[in-house]
Amino acid sequence: MTQPRPDLVGMEMWGGVELEKTIVNSILNMGYESPSEIQVESIPWQLNGRDVVAQAVTGSGKTAAFGIPMCNIVDPKSQDVQGLVLVPTRELAQQVQRELSLIGRDRGVGVVAVYGGEPIAKQIRALQKGMSIVVGTPGRLKDLMNRRILDLGYVRFAVLDEADEMLDIGFADDMEFILKRTPSTRQTSLFSATIPGFIRGLIRRYLDDPRWIQLVSHSNGIETVAEVDQIFYDVASQDKADGILEILDDVNDDSQVLIFRKMQVGVDRLAKGLAGEGFAIKGLHGGMSQSERNRVMDSFRDGSLKMLVATNLAARGLDIPAISHVINYDMPENIEEYVHRIGRTARMGKRGTAVSFIGEWDFELHEQIVAKIGEDKMIRRKFSFY
Ligand code: ADP
Ligand code: MG
Repeated sequence: MTQPRPDLVGMEMWGGVELEKTIVNSILNMGYESPSEIQVESIPWQLNGRDVVAQAVTGSGKTAAFGIPMCNIVDPKSQDVQGLVLVPTRELAQQVQRELSLIGRDRGVGVVAVYGGEPIAKQIRALQKGMSIVVGTPGRLKDLMNRRILDLGYVRFAVLDEADEMLDIGFADDMEFILKRTPSTRQTSLFSATIPGFIRGLIRRYLDDPRWIQLVSHSNGIETVAEVDQIFYDVASQDKADGILEILDDVNDDSQVLIFRKMQVGVDRLAKGLAGEGFAIKGLHGGMSQSERNRVMDSFRDGSLKMLVATNLAARGLDIPAISHVINYDMPENIEEYVHRIGRTARMGKRGTAVSFIGEWDFELHEQIVAKIGEDKMIRRKFSFY
């Protein structure tokens, strides 16, 4: 256990928010000079123990908006898990763990990520060191709980990041299982860029008199960041391969590009096809081994890999500020996924471009996007071959 530095004992203000000095020291070291809007609005409520439902656009700093109060609230000297963060993917678990470790560094807060696809023994060893905060995907969390390695009976603060995804049908039973095994006195925060109506009932089930913080101006609750250009092309399925070449021709060599496809096999095919055209590109999907996923993600994060084609696995939460282009080669299933996918670019005030291929099956979704996001935000273009 690290000894507290005497100069870092007590409280200090960070842009109007009162925090432990150790936390302020860490976040200043991360380069966070002042809080973002969602941080200003949501951190004080959470520090006061209030349940929070927080909606703010992609790339607005939601991780630190729950990570700062969580690192401030837990007792780093206790051996119990007091903070729990639930996330939908392994890659997001790794990323959130990294950010929370940095926030809690000078306070000595231990943060561990637990997720599938990697040897459980390593994660068990980490947990047995006495971690204050666990960031995890539902499957591996349940596994560790069933093995009686992980006891959530002392959790004081639980967060659902990408809350609407965590409460959707795919994870609903897992959430019930996990949250039922935490104290009912815990405080709970939900964070997402999208809060669709269907989760209202579940919010009542899991949260106690939550404070709603919705930093979206659109009354229908669907909002994309102002800094992203949203470009749409009509294209028949059989012409998408020509279309992507035309798009990539126009993209600067050192821009970082994330392409989305619907199916794993489509990801593999497109990665192979574009590699054959001379592009340095890799695929990312759930059918790959975790070590391969890690290799691809690491190289995309450090910028040595410029192009990535992925399934929805990469749609939510991933923060790679250098991504300049997101391309929907296949459109997503719904408008929320569209918002999250294009939110991989234009983060924290940066500019970005989102290109969407409207195929013969996508007219309905496209109409919805136009209606809910606004015609004024849409740029229509035509491929040269039409
Ligand atoms: P969101 O979860 O809202 O999509 P993230 O939490 O991933 O956004 O944050 C987006 C980016 O902003 C990250 O690169 C993060 O390091 C950075 N960031 C967060 N808070 C601050 C801050 N207060 N000052 C500067 N940068 C910040
Ligand atoms: Mg996030």
